[in-house]
Amino acid sequence: MRYAKVAVDLNAPLLDRPFTYTVPDGMLLQAGDMVRVSFGKRQIEGYVLDVSDECGVESDKLKPVLSRIGEQSVILPEMLRLASFMKDKYLCTTTDALRLMMPPQMRAGTVKEKTLRVVRLVLTVDEARQKCKNAPAQLKVVEALGGGELSLEELNRTVGGASALCNALAKKGVAQVYAKSVRRAPKVYESDRSSVDPPLTEQQKDVVDSLTQAIGSGGRFLLYGVTGSGKTEVYIRLIRELLGRGRGTIILVPEIALTPQTVGWFHARFGCLSAVLHSRLSAGERYDEWQRIRSGEAKVVIGARSAVFAPLENPGAIIIDEEHEGAYLSEKRPRYDAREIAAERVRLSGGILLLGSATPSISSFMRTMPRVRPENKLTLLEMDRRALDRPMPECELVDMRSELSNGNKGIFSLSLIRELKSCMDKNQQAMLFINRRGHSTFVNCRACGYVIKCRDCDVAMTYHQSSDSLVCHYCGAVAQTPAQCPKCHSRFIKFFGAGTERIQLEAQKLFPDKTVLRMDMDTTGGKDAHADILEAFGKGKADILVGTQMIAKGLDFPNVTLVGVVAADTTLNLPDYRSAERTFQLITQVAGRAGRADIPGKVIIQTYSPDHYALKCALRQDYRAFYNAEISYRKRSLYPPYTTIARLLMVSQDAEAAFAAAKNASEQLREALTQNGLMQHVLSVHEGPAPIKRIKGEERYEVLVKMYTAGDTKGVIAEMEKIENKDRGTVKAELEVNPANMF
Ligand code: ADP
Ligand code: ZN
Ligand code: ZN
Repeated sequence: MRYAKVAVDLNAPLLDRPFTYTVPDGMLLQAGDMVRVSFGKRQIEGYVLDVSDECGVESDKLKPVLSRIGEQSVILPEMLRLASFMKDKYLCTTTDALRLMMPPQMRAGTVKEKTLRVVRLVLTVDEARQKCKNAPAQLKVVEALGGGELSLEELNRTVGGASALCNALAKKGVAQVYAKSVRRAPKVYESDRSSVDPPLTEQQKDVVDSLTQAIGSGGRFLLYGVTGSGKTEVYIRLIRELLGRGRGTIILVPEIALTPQTVGWFHARFGCLSAVLHSRLSAGERYDEWQRIRSGEAKVVIGARSAVFAPLENPGAIIIDEEHEGAYLSEKRPRYDAREIAAERVRLSGGILLLGSATPSISSFMRTMPRVRPENKLTLLEMDRRALDRPMPECELVDMRSELSNGNKGIFSLSLIRELKSCMDKNQQAMLFINRRGHSTFVNCRACGYVIKCRDCDVAMTYHQSSDSLVCHYCGAVAQTPAQCPKCHSRFIKFFGAGTERIQLEAQKLFPDKTVLRMDMDTTGGKDAHADILEAFGKGKADILVGTQMIAKGLDFPNVTLVGVVAADTTLNLPDYRSAERTFQLITQVAGRAGRADIPGKVIIQTYSPDHYALKCALRQDYRAFYNAEISYRKRSLYPPYTTIARLLMVSQDAEAAFAAAKNASEQLREALTQNGLMQHVLSVHEGPAPIKRIKGEERYEVLVKMYTAGDTKGVIAEMEKIENKDRGTVKAELEVNPANMF
């Protein structure tokens, strides 16, 4: 008798253990298969974790596996090991982890292979013409088909009523209509880059050499390469080396919609050996791409965060581009970090982990330092020059305070205007970056100082000129722009703070004959809107592109010679310990968009705090100087990576209930931590209102716990999870470790 250990697909932590079933004679079953089993009175799905001759439990009560689902096992054995790593690391259930490893439609069984109704002639074209000579409409179909085949859908576009005509032709024995299964292929951005490998630069060669030496033995690397140094080419060569040895690679990019070019580049080089996986694909597309990877047909997987779970067998490398991006942290449970998952996957497969960035995260760069524990160590690889010895862009910092005292009240400094003019005169392109959308970021009364806030959130509303209304950027609520102050009825309502809309209008005013495009959340609602805007700008259909951080990501437009950072202070003034890091990253990334081809680039950074170290370092594009300043600030102020911050947020319609919940939780936590001796690892436990006290009509209170990263953080977090999972009626609790944002 053979026995199967099965994890049942239920959302219940208490049932998170393997259940034993017998394997009926003749059923071929292996670990990773999806099965149906009876559970209590129900029949449910489950995943086979293990099959063996040993039963291990009392065997006369066992039930048999009812059936096996699908022809191929769904989960690779190595992924089962990954699931148990996740269970341990993120305190999630085995099924929570396994669910991330397959397309959701697979569990629901709702996606089938796609088939098309296709027509073709069964006679030669001449014979068919002969048979239809008295039926002109049928003749049209015959001509349209010729010697090939067409789907009914296509045919209908040229010949009306094709479906009925084809049936008639089929009856006559002239044509045949049949179902053909097809793959749903995702749209890829057309690449203007060549599909042949260029010779590598010296620096690229050195990096590729170090990486290829690690093939076989494995290794973890951080590639710090300035913008334009040609990191993509390094990735491509590593992938080629691996393909030559029969191994595939996963490449993660922060957000596919924002990096369609990158996907295009890989597609141009690897053709149908490559597959893409991301959430903007249709269910069918995702399913088909998944199958292509699972079957081994596609060996180069490009995707967003969740593609780290792609069913690629024994990956030779996992590459994480722009590793500093927050997008690699999952905001849903299990709250995994794709970088950690990738590290574990390559550890299991003996592969290479390659993190790449022009602005590595402080925590990753710290791991390249001497004296880091071996299990955390990253080997630093560096490219400090742009490919083909193109110069780094020339940067200028403009102090907006002196602009004001010189009588310029506009949002563009004189320097920026001068550079824009010269750029436009030469028919080159410019990008203007501001990290806020809308027209004006707040509206207030000059008489009494009243700031118009959202009805449901504790935030100022943003004025949008396109809809002439006030919009809350946290909940989306829309209100009319008041003609007078709601509080003192004065008519002196003023609009302050510029956003993308305003920048676009002002730029258009300056250059009435030029085309100004805008890219932000308001202009990118549709499925392919991002790609369309970028494609238009890339093809020179616009002269200026205004945008939020969306335009900062790995884009490469050769004709862009000027980048303007309109208000560098926006991110700098956020109440978050990472605000300097984010500012440095954003500015370096956008600045990196300038002058990527033969024409040198220029960058103008406007600010009210020109002495801030993040800006000074960004000005010189000096990552190391920034790292040194930032790491000593983190150490001094006890911020991550030296410490770990865990936040338990209590959310409720009722302010008192939320506050009481936070207070209770913090008392319970202190007690629990004291009892099991974990308090020594904790620096502080603090409860109070969240920085934004109300969002969408819900009151927010938090318990903030700060602890030394070197201590038993897992133990402390486990205690917080226990408290999070308690039932407290209408109050919702949300636990986040090193929260993506602190509001
Ligand atoms: P990064 O991602 O490091 O910012 P990219 O990979 O986008 O840089 O490369 C920057 C530019 O340099 C691109 O236009 C790319 O085609 C070009 N490039 C990179 N490597 C080479 C090379 N070895 N020879 C010629 N051009 C290169
Ligand atoms: Zn007023
Ligand atoms: Zn709101």
